[in-house]
Amino acid sequence: MLMRTSTMAIANHNGGSFRYDRGMMVPILGLHHVTATVDDAQDDLDLCVGTLGLRLVKTTVNFDNHHVYHFYYGDKHGTPGTIWTTFPYRDHGVRVGTRGAGQVVTTLFSVSHGSLAFWRARLAHDSIAATDLPDRFGDAAVAFSDASGLEFELVASAQDERLPWVVEDIDPSAAIRGLHSVTLAVRDEGPTLAFMAQLGWQEIAREGNRVRTAVNGGGPGRLIDVIVDPQRPQGINGLGTVHHVAMAIETGEQQRELRDQLLAQGVKVTDIRDRCYFTSIYFREPGGVLFEVATMKPGFAVDENESMLGTALKLPPWEEPNRADIERHLPDIVVPRR
Ligand code: ZN
Repeated sequence: MLMRTSTMAIANHNGGSFRYDRGMMVPILGLHHVTATVDDAQDDLDLCVGTLGLRLVKTTVNFDNHHVYHFYYGDKHGTPGTIWTTFPYRDHGVRVGTRGAGQVVTTLFSVSHGSLAFWRARLAHDSIAATDLPDRFGDAAVAFSDASGLEFELVASAQDERLPWVVEDIDPSAAIRGLHSVTLAVRDEGPTLAFMAQLGWQEIAREGNRVRTAVNGGGPGRLIDVIVDPQRPQGINGLGTVHHVAMAIETGEQQRELRDQLLAQGVKVTDIRDRCYFTSIYFREPGGVLFEVATMKPGFAVDENESMLGTALKLPPWEEPNRADIERHLPDIVVPRR
C-alpha cells in the first residue's frame, strides 16, 4: 500500500521527529463522528434531540468510565459522518476545560440553503443565543453554544444530498443533514497540514488564517478547517471541550494497515479498541489534536433493532454483569419529544 514518492521529517506532538512518505495510500472516507465532554446529561439531550432534532441513536456508557453516559446522535441509521457524541460528566470531578490550540474548537452541522431563518427562530425560541457569521467559502452560517460552552455552527450548504432524520416539528427541508466539518486550532500550520495530507486531507481553499482541507472528493462531511494562530494558548481538556474527531475507514483490515503505517513512521497509535459499533485507533496530529480512525461497521443496529435505536441503555457485553450497579448510578434522563 505504501507509495514512496518523497519523504520529509516533521515534529510529532512530543517534540521528537519522524519520517513519513507523502502520498501514502490511506482510504479515509470522511468524518465518522465528533466526541465532546459536556456538563449535564439532560441539557445535552434537550439541545441535541429537542432543539437540533438529531436522532438519539445509542444510549450507552463511556467504555472507559461506566458511571458516565455516552450519547450518540445522528441520522436515522446513525450513518458515519452524521454522528455527534457526548460524555456528560457533571458531578464526576472533571474541571471546566479551555478551548484552544491542539483541539477541535468548533463543530459544524450542515443544513439546507435557505433554512437559516428557521434555525435562528428555533434557537431563539429555546433561549439559545445565535450569531450570524459572515459568509465563509461562500456559505452563510449561524453560530451558537451549548450550556457547557461548546461552539457549534449551522452551515447552509447547497450541495448536501444526505437525507435528514425527520421529526414532527422540523420541516425535512430544514433538518440537519449531518456533520459539515470541524474546525481545528493549531499554532503551526506546516506540520499539521503535512500530516493531514498524508491521511488524504488536501488543502482546497484559504481565507485569512483558515485553511480548508477535503478528503474523498470533499463536500459536507468530508471537510476539516484548520485555523492557524501562533499565539493561541493550548487548549485544556474538560467540560465544554471536544475530546476528539474521528475519521471513517471502510474495513478493519484497512484500519490495521493504517495503524502499521503510522507506527512505522514513529506516530504513537493506540491498539485497536472495540467500541461495539465500530473499532477504533487513536493518535495525535503534530499540533496536538486527538484523531481517531473508526470503521464503518458493524454500526448501531448491531445490538438493537433500528426502529428502537437509542431507546434502551445498551452496554457492551463485558459490562452486562455490572448493569444493576451502572443503572443505579446514572442520572435520570428524559429523552425529549416535540
Ligand atoms: Zn470516538
